[in-house]
Formats: sequence, C-alpha cells, structure tokens
Amino acid sequence: MKQILQDKSAAELAELVRAAGEKPFRARQLSEGLLHAKPLSQIPVSPALRARLLEEYEDEPVRIERVFTAKDGTQKFLFALADGNLIEGVLMKYKYGNTQCVSTQVGCRMGCKFCASTLGGLVRNLTAGEILGQILAVNRLAGGGLREKRAVTNVVLMGSGEPFDNYDQVVRFLRNVTDGEGFGMSARNISLSTCGLADRMRAFAGEGIPLNLTVSLHAVTDEERARTMPVARAFSIREILDACTYYFERTGRRYIFEYSLIAGENADLAHADALAQLLRGRPCHVNLIRLNEVKERSLRAADEANAQAFLKRLTERGISATLRRSMGSDIGGACGQLRVSYINDNL
Ligand code: SAH
Repeated sequence: MKQILQDKSAAELAELVRAAGEKPFRARQLSEGLLHAKPLSQIPVSPALRARLLEEYEDEPVRIERVFTAKDGTQKFLFALADGNLIEGVLMKYKYGNTQCVSTQVGCRMGCKFCASTLGGLVRNLTAGEILGQILAVNRLAGGGLREKRAVTNVVLMGSGEPFDNYDQVVRFLRNVTDGEGFGMSARNISLSTCGLADRMRAFAGEGIPLNLTVSLHAVTDEERARTMPVARAFSIREILDACTYYFERTGRRYIFEYSLIAGENADLAHADALAQLLRGRPCHVNLIRLNEVKERSLRAADEANAQAFLKRLTERGISATLRRSMGSDIGGACGQLRVSYINDNL
C-alpha cells in the first residue's frame, strides 16, 4: 500500500507542499480538496505536484462501495480501503444533527461474544487517515462542506474495532479531525467507546482531548463479564471504574456506560440493583440498549418490557440512564453484520 495523505495534519501537508518547492496556496488547495473527499487525481493542484504525490500516496484511500438506506432514514455504508479490505459505518439522522458511527480497525481481537465485528478476529488497524476518510466520504455524499457547513455533526467511535487497541492512530485522528485548520469538529461532539482497556483510558486522560468517554460494561461482576467479554480477564471492573474516576479528575468530563441487555445474562432486576450500587454517586450516565441479535451468535435480546423495567429500576435507584432505540435494524443495524453478510454473499 502507498502512504495516505489524509493521515497528515494541515501543518504537515503545508510542509510537504513547501518541501516540494510549491507555493503556499497549493497547500490550501490540497488540504481543502482532501477534506472535501476528492480523489487526489481530481484535486486542482499543479499537475507536477499531483503527479509527484500520486507516485507515493493513495488516490482514494477510503471509497464508498455501497449505501443502504433504512426506513427511518439511517444509512449504512460499506467502504473499500486501498488494499481491498472492507469496513462499515452508519449515519443516524436526528433532529439536532447527523451522527456517524466509524470503525477504527478491520475486525477486532477483543472477542466479545455478542459482537459480530470480532467473528474473524483482527485483520489490521486503520490509519488515522482511514478513520477520517470515512467521515469525509460520508460528509461529501450528504452534501456537507467544511467546518460550520458539515453534514456530519457528531461522530461516535463505535464501529468495528477497539479504539484503544489502535491508540496512536486514533489519537492522531482525533487531533486532526478537531484541528481548526482541518475538518474543525469539536471534541465535545465526538464519543469514543472502549471495552475497558483501563491503562489506555488513563493515558488518554492526559491527551487533553475533551471528548465523551464511553465504556462498554455489560455486566456487574467480573465473573459474569468474563462470560461475554474476554477482556474482563485483563482488567477488572474496579480497575475500569478507577480509570473513569481518574478521567473525570483530569478532564472534568462525565463518562458514559454502555449496557446491552441480554436475556438470561445481565438483564434481571437484581442486575439493575447491583449496577446502581456499583455506580452510585458517580458522575456518569448509563446507555441501555437491547442486544442487537447477531445471526452467528446464540445470545438473545432482553424483551422490551424487561428493558423498560430495568431502566425504571436504575432510575429509581438514582442512576441517570436512558434506553436507546435501535436504529436502522432493517438494514443490519447490529455491529459488524453488514460486512460479514456482504463478504459471505460475494465470495
Ligand atoms: N470496541 C469498542 C467500540 C465498538 S462496539 C467497545 O467495545 O466499546 C460499540 C458498542 O456496541 C459497545 O458498547 C459494544 O459492546 C456494543 N455492541 C457490540 N455488539 C453489539 C450487539 N450485538 N448488540 C448491542 N450492542 C453491541
């Protein structure tokens, strides 16, 4: 694979153009073209610069391969990378704006039993530019521009992959996407979800990126958690909660727990009580969601009445919580499903 220009910050692009002996305005042309998701071959820089860059850099590192639109307007995208790997993403439309869910790895090695992204293990990490490229491509398709004209207003790192298992590239991506000279998104409009790599959570607290930190908890004891999340053997719930406290101390930001309700596994009212006990007094919020059933997995979703009762119990116990509605379920809303079914259909 060639290198990827979208990995670079605005300052690094400017330096590249300067080192090539080109005038400074070419740097702006190049950076604006890339941010508008134009293939390198179509960006109006000087022909000499373009030819030179095309020798070393990918023309279009992230290309939208297919688009699926659900009845509720949610769109699901299949992206092709330069090496032929496929990743997926979703754009959810709300009254206040559009939220894009992006992937940070091709596949995942965390092995959560309810998740489709992990079925084939980890294929490879995405680079910062491949993460950004997903947003730029969707923003372009949705008719958006840069900065205040963006069509993608919010981003969640909740697609395939564990962001903190690809720490350096994810941090680079976050710096570039929030750069005022670049796409110019506010960190407050970005959420990062981790399965609880407590050491990286602590490191991230020191990066000075004030995003919304989200932790996938899904259980109230380490034993139960290990049944669905192998990562529980590496980090205990206690270590994760301590890392959350540290994050709050360093950033002043509240944090969020994801809790997917799985029938017969974590959805009894006794679990709600234990969860409330665990989180009491913490500056946090709980996002409940009924499991998206994945064909290849045997786990079943808790039913709607169960989910409502769980929410009610948590709220009564003083925990801030919401039950999220599932969007785009008619187009394979469950994490990782689209990529898997597309690959199966096309081999
Ligand atoms: N690796 C990160 C982010 C990717 S998954 C993490 O673990 O947080 C984003 C969220 O979706 C996580 O909370 C994950 O546990 C959850 N998730 C994965 N598969 C799911 C499914 N089938 N149903 C409901 N939630 C699921």
